[in-house]
Amino acid sequence: MNALGVDILNGTGTLVGPQKVKYGKIGYPDKTVTGKNVIIATGSIPFVPPGIEIDGKTVFTSDHALKLEWIPDWIAIVGSGYIGLEFSDVYTALGSEVGHSRSLGPLNLKW
Ligand SMILES: Cc1cc2nc3c(=O)[nH]c(=O)nc-3n(C[C@H](O)[C@H](O)[C@H](O)COP(=O)(O)OP(=O)(O)OC[C@H]3O[C@@H](n4cnc5c(N)ncnc54)[C@H](O)[C@@H]3O)c2cc1C
Repeated sequence: MNALGVDILNGTGTLVGPQKVKYGKIGYPDKTVTGKNVIIATGSIPFVPPGIEIDGKTVFTSDHALKLEWIPDWIAIVGSGYIGLEFSDVYTALGSEVGHSRSLGPLNLKW
């Protein structure tokens, strides 16, 4: 990127005006840059249905599932889209017993 003449500004960016981005890291003073155009490409975060508490240990999102430090004996995957199915494949291969839940309406989980 640098070789192409792109400056990389590290930190959390906050849009503070139509052409202004503040960025910085905890413990460092913020800086502000202006640009003719600003592209927001901050990705997405997993959707957690209301009422579900994520603890990262027994109830976790796909982000946590990427870096679990243990292999659960069994795992219930809520959501049968390509990410849920991908995890189903991975955890089955690792030896977990895997169940799936898919919902077309409001999520109503009972354990
Ligand atoms: C488990 C899983 C498996 C997937 N598998 C595949 C696959 O096999 N094939 C495929 O094509 N796609 C796959 N995807 C989808 C793919 O990862 C996403 O579509 C893609 O990463 C989206 O790219 P993006 O640039 O929009 O966002 P991201 O890759 O999420 O990048 C966003 C970046 O913005 C940064 N950011 C966020 N907020 C700020 C802020 N305030 N200031 C500065 N930076 C910030 C984040 O740190 C991150 O680096 C998968 C996704 C998941 C979750």
